[in-house]
Amino acid sequence: MNNEGFTIWLTGLSGAGKTTISEMLCKELRERQAPCEMLDGDIVREHLSKGLSFSREDRDINILRIGFVAALLSRNRVCVIVSAISPYKNTRNQVRQTIKNFIEVYVKCPIDECERRDVKGLYKKARTGIIKSFTGIDDPYEEPQQPEVTCCTDLETVESSVRKILRYLELANYIPAPMDAVSWPERQARN
Ligand code: ADP
Repeated sequence: MNNEGFTIWLTGLSGAGKTTISEMLCKELRERQAPCEMLDGDIVREHLSKGLSFSREDRDINILRIGFVAALLSRNRVCVIVSAISPYKNTRNQVRQTIKNFIEVYVKCPIDECERRDVKGLYKKARTGIIKSFTGIDDPYEEPQQPEVTCCTDLETVESSVRKILRYLELANYIPAPMDAVSWPERQARN
């Protein structure tokens, strides 16, 4: 069993379901006594990246900052869950190079459905020109080519997406299977 931390990096359009999946996944991991921390793009922009714009350059700075923190945490045995649009393939790959156990999860949802959900009312603002450079409308989103996991949130439930990610983590030996009686801290102490 791997006794290191890891970073689960959820990428996808606004409203695709990254935060919703992250929260449930984090709860599941904590229930298994795994030390877990979430880095949500929206929250990071209020603190670590306050004042950054949505230009390509600033988007990249934001992602690299999140990647830097995720690398620090995950090398100290923390299970990190990042939810950030992270629209650029090269920047995601750059982050991948700096994090030892990097798991890219593509939270995939057609833009029509994201727009129908319009959780934060941002699509409406983007369509009416109140917000400029909105990913998927007038700014690009580069789809992952070979993500470790893909969750199609227009077709599957939140629960099944979370199960799929947990299954990947179990099969890749990042976390013990739930039937295993040995707790996460006990396992780390043994290794
Ligand atoms: P993001 O973090 O990607 O911007 P959110 O998680 O904030 O997206 O919002 C996604 C919305 O879609 C939530 O209101 C959530 O309840 C809803 N939703 C519907 N089906 C799913 C699903 N299968 N997976 C994730 N979210 C879903």
